[in-house]
Amino acid sequence: MSTILITGAGSGIGAGVAAELAKAGHHILATDLNLDAAGETARAISADGGQAEAFELDVASADSVAAITGKLPGPVDVLVNNAGLQYVSKLEDFPMEKWEQLIAVMLTGAARLTRALLPGMRKAGHGRIINIGSIHALVASRYKTAYVAAKHGLLGFSKVLALETADTDITINTICPSYVKTPLVEKQIAAQARENGISEEKVVNEIMLKPMPKGEFISIEELAGICAFLMSPAARNITGQTIVVDGGWTAQ
Ligand code: NAD
Repeated sequence: MSTILITGAGSGIGAGVAAELAKAGHHILATDLNLDAAGETARAISADGGQAEAFELDVASADSVAAITGKLPGPVDVLVNNAGLQYVSKLEDFPMEKWEQLIAVMLTGAARLTRALLPGMRKAGHGRIINIGSIHALVASRYKTAYVAAKHGLLGFSKVLALETADTDITINTICPSYVKTPLVEKQIAAQARENGISEEKVVNEIMLKPMPKGEFISIEELAGICAFLMSPAARNITGQTIVVDGGWTAQ
């Protein structure tokens, strides 16, 4: 069984993937900017008979990332770079501090933490790095310049790191889901309704579900299942790849 460090594990996809992978018997290191939220994820896993610990970790902070390596109970086998946030605004009105924060968390943060954990994986001769990208690593939507730029960048980062780690049993891949019903998306429904001047129901049906031929939100269980596959021996030669889970969005 593996020790899996998940960032942004206090909510949504991170919390759900943590719970699913814990059910499969893995040891979860639930990290988040919000320690209480990470603690809640770890407590729920322990109450369910699983093994989990919570740590405060701000992936956008050099100090926080440097400190985490000294706090961990042992080597990390699998890193899930999941922490993220959204901000919806046209570029002219986009606050630059927000723009920089999105890149700092979802692109530089993923690189920074991967860089910190890579020596341990190299020493062990084994490691799996799984990024939670997005359909927005492949296509654009209006008013999301920072998010789309960060997620596109994550694919380039992963391809380079796949080459740099090809000499050992380390892989890095990016799972790219379209919409998953989490707090991040719930908040966005209201913001998109405001920016587009339409109802929240129209945002869900016309903006979120319409581009997906399958017409339904992606579930967290599907994402956890893909993580499990990427961790398995069957996936040891899958690296630098983009696993698109979009209900057929980009097939059109
Ligand atoms: P969420 O808002 O439910 O959870 C995000 C978590 O990240 C929160 O617990 C938050 O505290 C944490 N976080 C934010 N900034 C952080 C930082 N600097 N350091 C550490 N943790 C931080 O969001 P979610 O929907 O679960 O999103 C998780 C990931 O999945 C994100 O990378 C997001 O881009 C991606 N994603 C989400 C969807 C979706 O539809 N929900 C679709 C595609 C990709």
